[in-house]
Amino acid sequence: MSREFLPRRREPAIIPVMNQTIEPQPGIFKDQYPYTTIIVRWLFLTAEMGLGAYFAFLFGLFNLGYIYIIYGIIALTVLQPLIRCVRCYYYGKRCNIGLGKLVPLFYKKADDDNFSAYYGYSILIWPLRLIPIGVGSLQILDGLLSEFKFVPQGLFGVYLAVLFFHRRFYRAVSCSKCRQKAVCPVYDIVAMRAGMEKQGNLTEKRLHND
Ligand code: SF4
Repeated sequence: MSREFLPRRREPAIIPVMNQTIEPQPGIFKDQYPYTTIIVRWLFLTAEMGLGAYFAFLFGLFNLGYIYIIYGIIALTVLQPLIRCVRCYYYGKRCNIGLGKLVPLFYKKADDDNFSAYYGYSILIWPLRLIPIGVGSLQILDGLLSEFKFVPQGLFGVYLAVLFFHRRFYRAVSCSKCRQKAVCPVYDIVAMRAGMEKQGNLTEKRLHND
């Protein structure tokens, strides 16, 4: 049968989106971020983690404060690199948080460049925010029932402000010039679904070829 009568195979919607990651557009995207951006991001992160640990210690059960600190270190040194950095354009480069230069010392680059394929596992990092938000909310409740003080209720407000301004900062300064933004779920949640579909197609193809 002539090929033109065969039903056309639809290309997955991801293809045009994925290509945008590596399109060279000098002046729009950054290949390396300035040290000032990295320093500001680490100041925000330190404030966020420090206040987060404070609220985890406030809980007073299960040694939650120590668990929080240990889990934070694991998230930074294992989860973040394996879920995101090894598939990132900035692997080996000075990314906006500086990990791009460090991660290659400990982890090999992934075979696929599908940045968003495993992004769903970022859920493992969520407790680092859910714990302080949960404990802080309990403190607010306590303040409503008794008395509001700067410590701890006011500090919870500071923690939320840090989260808010940190996000505003990296969206404006980092994400806007990032080569990954077309496929980054932080920027566009649809990118995660598209990335997972692409990964599923690749796996299926591999199984089919075996
Ligand atoms: S778009 Fe933003 S969150 Fe996503 S990889 Fe780039 S800098 Fe990071």
